[in-house]
Amino acid sequence: MKALVKKESSPGLWLCDVPEPKIGINDVMVKMRKTSICGTDFHIYKWDAWAQRTVREGQIIGHEFCGEIVAVGENVHDFKPGDLVSGEGHLVCGRCRNCLAGRRHLCAHTRGIGVNTDGAFAEYLAMPMGNVWLADPRIPEEIISCFDPLGNATHTALSFDVLGEDVLITGAGPIGCMAAAIVRHAGARHVVVTDINPWRLELAKRMGATRIVDVSKEDLKAVQQELGMHEGFDVSLEMSGSPKAMEAIVENACHGGRIAILGIFPEKFAIDWDKVIFNMLTIKGIYGREMYETWYKMTMMIQTGLDISPVITHRLHYTEFLFGFEAMKSGQAGKVVLDWTA
Ligand code: NAD
Ligand code: ZN
Repeated sequence: MKALVKKESSPGLWLCDVPEPKIGINDVMVKMRKTSICGTDFHIYKWDAWAQRTVREGQIIGHEFCGEIVAVGENVHDFKPGDLVSGEGHLVCGRCRNCLAGRRHLCAHTRGIGVNTDGAFAEYLAMPMGNVWLADPRIPEEIISCFDPLGNATHTALSFDVLGEDVLITGAGPIGCMAAAIVRHAGARHVVVTDINPWRLELAKRMGATRIVDVSKEDLKAVQQELGMHEGFDVSLEMSGSPKAMEAIVENACHGGRIAILGIFPEKFAIDWDKVIFNMLTIKGIYGREMYETWYKMTMMIQTGLDISPVITHRLHYTEFLFGFEAMKSGQAGKVVLDWTA
């Protein structure tokens, strides 16, 4: 079969012929229909220090997908050929304290499909039935292929109650943009999205931001005044991975403000702990998605009108994957979806 492989220990990705995967008794075989490119794939493409430490040569990458089940192992009774599915890319151990308690997203031994094991950028993917999400076939396949990052956005955005609240989102990448749509859907009042990339800020506006702020030009305190806000942001979602953005969140939070952090920071840095303590801020780190409450919530939000389609800016055939990665490099891309059907 065809697959996108990290063939050599150097920047790039290679379209290769590889053997089809085999399924075990608890696995399903998925024939790929649409995949979308994640920032993680882009790290692997660039071959930065994290990717070099983490990914082995010869690995098939990718973990955001929508496909059709074509075969199931003999222990699998809940899925059948023809089912349209996506899947949770975090493989959990099933045996640690959290897994046994049903808190699988808090597993201490998580491994990643397309990072630590062969991934979804291929004609076929074999995966454990416990990681399969049965998709609503009325939802477009390209949207289902974005369920993994939409899940990151959902997990973060719904960590705290946002109904009637003023929400600050730092970072208008695909996930920040999806989070803007979600908090609007969930009833937030002001949805202020920051970035330093004007193209992405415009995308955030199309996705539901009520005020976009280029922090290289504008000051958030002045924006708060303009909006008639007196006490700071009630809820803040860090989605840029920038220490400066985290600093701005702590500076602009209300007393008792709640902060969820998804962004992955490149290095350790200091924040003003006095503000955290004396303003009684709550800070929550977010990794992945809740299994499977997040998947349920995002499906229901889409069924009740959440529209994330503007975030998909590029639709390409899988053989054109290099254009997709280069579009991401340019900074003028939201989600890039690859088609595996033709
Ligand atoms: P992205 O890199 O596409 O977007 C980040 C955006 O932040 C960019 O548009 C960038 O211009 C902007 N930015 C940079 N400096 C800024 C600043 N000072 N203030 C405001 N914005 C600034 O990322 P993405 O794919 O949308 O993902 C968002 C973040 O979440 C990334 O840091 C990513 O690594 C992280 N992530 C975490 C998880 C997890 O499970 N914790 C999962 C997926 C992604
Ligand atoms: Zn576990």
